[in-house]
Amino acid sequence: MSPSASGLILVAPVFNEEKIVARFLERVLAVAGQVDMRGVVIVDDGSNDGTCSAIREFLSRTPGPRPKVRLLRLSRNFGHQVAVVAGIQAAVAWAEQAGFAFVGLIDADLQDRPEDLPKLLSAVGDADVAYGVRASRSEGLAFRLAAATFHWLLARTARFDIPRDAGTFSVMRLRAARVVAAESHQAPYFPALRAWVGFRQVGVPLARDVRADDSSRVGPLG
Ligand code: UDP
Ligand code: MG
Repeated sequence: MSPSASGLILVAPVFNEEKIVARFLERVLAVAGQVDMRGVVIVDDGSNDGTCSAIREFLSRTPGPRPKVRLLRLSRNFGHQVAVVAGIQAAVAWAEQAGFAFVGLIDADLQDRPEDLPKLLSAVGDADVAYGVRASRSEGLAFRLAAATFHWLLARTARFDIPRDAGTFSVMRLRAARVVAAESHQAPYFPALRAWVGFRQVGVPLARDVRADDSSRVGPLG
């Protein structure tokens, strides 16, 4: 198929998100039309609760028309980074085959707002990557201090510029996503890996909500 100027495959990692995942998918699908979303890759990172049945149940009662949702189940819990990279690899293959232009990343806990996806896509413009920059942090002081220290250390030790306060939430043109997928060993942390690949990148200040349930699955360092 010939490449189109649009078409987004959205990737979301999930680990034990049974309480949230249906709400998450509902909000994602509600903005699908605004961003030409053609597919969603949910990466189940070895959940041992009802996450997968909650996804299947939601999909069976949500016929569409809607983007196709694929569930990629990892054999165990590998952690956020591995789940994100596995999802990007699947999304790149899908986009290559179908001729779609963008791969997007979003956490499934509703801290990133699916409704901000149109902002990210319009910010890409002539660049290759647009990523959310946390305009505010809703976590407690200890979490924020640990996160600030982590970002400071990261900025000091890396040999390339890593934007501060940038998280997972982003959209990448296929050529950038392709390099992320192929070179994931270059950095053990997705926002750093995304910065490492180069290309033209723009940061978009976005508010971040509190987690839709109780506690972080990753902690301040992820
Ligand atoms: N997650 C994952 N594997 C893990 C931990 C988390 O796939 O081992 C997912 C989680 O379900 C969420 C995203 O990665 O969608 C970010 O996790 P979390 O919200 O706990 O991280 P934080 O917001 O605290 O950085
Ligand atoms: Mg979170």
